[in-house]
Amino acid sequence: MRQPRSMFKSVRCARPGVLPLLLLAASASAQPSPATNGPVATAFEIRDAALFRKIVPPGAHLERLATGMRFTEGPVWVPRQGGFLVFSEIPSDELKRWTRAEGLSTFRKPSRNANGNTVDRQGRLISCEHTGRRVSRLESDGTLRTLVDRFEGKRFNSPNDVAVHPDGSIWFTDPDYGLRNEPSEYGGRFVFRFDPTRGALSVVATNFDRPNGICFSPDGRRLYIADSGKPRHIRVFEVKKGGEVSGGEVFCRIDPGVPDGIRCDAKGRVYSSAGDGVHLFGPDGRLIGKILVPETPANLCFGEADGRTLFITARTSLYAIRLLARGPR
Ligand code: MG
Repeated sequence: MRQPRSMFKSVRCARPGVLPLLLLAASASAQPSPATNGPVATAFEIRDAALFRKIVPPGAHLERLATGMRFTEGPVWVPRQGGFLVFSEIPSDELKRWTRAEGLSTFRKPSRNANGNTVDRQGRLISCEHTGRRVSRLESDGTLRTLVDRFEGKRFNSPNDVAVHPDGSIWFTDPDYGLRNEPSEYGGRFVFRFDPTRGALSVVATNFDRPNGICFSPDGRRLYIADSGKPRHIRVFEVKKGGEVSGGEVFCRIDPGVPDGIRCDAKGRVYSSAGDGVHLFGPDGRLIGKILVPETPANLCFGEADGRTLFITARTSLYAIRLLARGPR
């Protein structure tokens, strides 16, 4: 990775009544055009400097790892074969693979317009497929298997994002973004839990407008679900043994833009994609700060061997930033 020299300066936000410290880390090297890879001049909006500095080290900067795509989504670090990143390039009907050594390549095409991806406790890739209208799993022998594609005999809308609970159950959201002027077969936009050992599907929530990003706290006791429809907020649920949930109050609101992909780090802080970048929240729901990104992020994940790289899929590009925080193990 090319390391740019960083310059820091603090400026005040011009919005009346709001004076967050804005820290600009500008690359002293030539700024790459949007069509090239490399270090990117990076700005942060800091609301709590002490907490922010536990996440983002001085000199941290975004790096554009790949670009020239159309709509990137669903990054996940796959801890096999030395580790590699998989993410979705939805309009190209393709799953991409990235490593520092080998750069960008095709992982699977067609992908049936896969969107959100995760890995289970065995390291198997689990994908939400828009046009496949299913949640699939890539088995260790290379075969692609449908895990679940129907609720009470009716097809899903377009599974969007997915997370695996520490108990092995697979939780996913099913908004209708992938339906083209078709009605929902089951007449809703639900959040589901699938138990792969029993083959049992259950409904987690029915009262979201557009349920989207989904993640668990590291201990699996909290479930976060983003609503990228009208509410533009993230709600938090308590998860009981056996997979029942309670609560569901608003955890935080996202502005500007909407929350799409969300992830927890190892300390239980919540990272959400937003209109201007990635917003960082404490477990209490307070905004710690923002990593501003040149393109609007749709999703993010932690990865690499130490779990301290935050990968961000944002429209045409894949970005990364090295953090002090790490992803859950
Ligand atoms: Mg999504």
